[in-house]
Amino acid sequence: MSSEQIFLNGELVKQEDAKISVFDHGFLYGDGIFEGIRAYNGRVFRFDEHLDRLYESAKAIMLDIPMSKEEMKEAVLKTIRANELEDAYIRLVVSRGVGDLGLDPNKCDNPTVIIIASDIELYPEEFYQEGLEVVTVPTRRNIPEALNPRIKSLNYLNNILAKIEANRAGVLEAIMLNNEGYVAECTGDNIFIIKDGVLRTPPTHVGALKGIKRGVVLDIAPELGLEVKEEVFTRHDLYVADECFLSGTAAEVIPVVEIDGREIADGQPGEYTGKLIDKFRQAANSQGTEIYNK
Ligand code: PMP
Repeated sequence: MSSEQIFLNGELVKQEDAKISVFDHGFLYGDGIFEGIRAYNGRVFRFDEHLDRLYESAKAIMLDIPMSKEEMKEAVLKTIRANELEDAYIRLVVSRGVGDLGLDPNKCDNPTVIIIASDIELYPEEFYQEGLEVVTVPTRRNIPEALNPRIKSLNYLNNILAKIEANRAGVLEAIMLNNEGYVAECTGDNIFIIKDGVLRTPPTHVGALKGIKRGVVLDIAPELGLEVKEEVFTRHDLYVADECFLSGTAAEVIPVVEIDGREIADGQPGEYTGKLIDKFRQAANSQGTEIYNK
């Protein structure tokens, strides 16, 4: 595994030395935020957007990241270079830091900053060719008024409970509904449907992360002649869609061919979805912040 050099609070340390305190509130309470970023062909894809989202998550939970965005950018690039990676999955974590056993974040003076640049973990190619089977699960997505899914927080228990339900159903991803029964998102991906030439994805206020790859899809789709709508929809709309797919940093764009035992259209990945995957891959392989030629 090539994530030997980890950035921990300003220094690169070996993986075996990258340790944090058991009093870190990220560990004790899930009090912190994170980002998952990808690099393709020596370039970090949509880097600024990921950094913007990290700092927005921090603002929402009143966490002062002890580095500027520019310093954070340099630290990420330095970590990728130290691990000599061209293609990478980068995990950025900022936790509230060490405090006492109480909840009070005011007792935590120094946020913990961690950057891990690792080999990528991909879904096997067969899923891009054949599509995924997924289910809707009983666990509802957090309501935004309690813990807004737009915050990419370290508190992923809501998603993990849904993931357990997906595991028990023998599928790789779960679709989560919000408290009103509208489709929100998956445990680690955004969701899209296509019907009669219209591409729909839930608006983020339904209870979904504003995925960076979701943004890429929304940018690319009109080039294929698709009309794009951020609109609420229900499980029924999923079942009767012409096409369905998911987007996320790890999954990229991946077709869905069966939901709750219902085949989507003829049970094959959709035509538009195939074209979106191609266009997505072209963009990912040709755009982004250069890691080495600076
Ligand atoms: N929703 C959730 C809950 C996620 O964890 C992720 C992965 N970050 C996504 C959607 C997709 O977001 P992105 O395209 O930025 O990876």
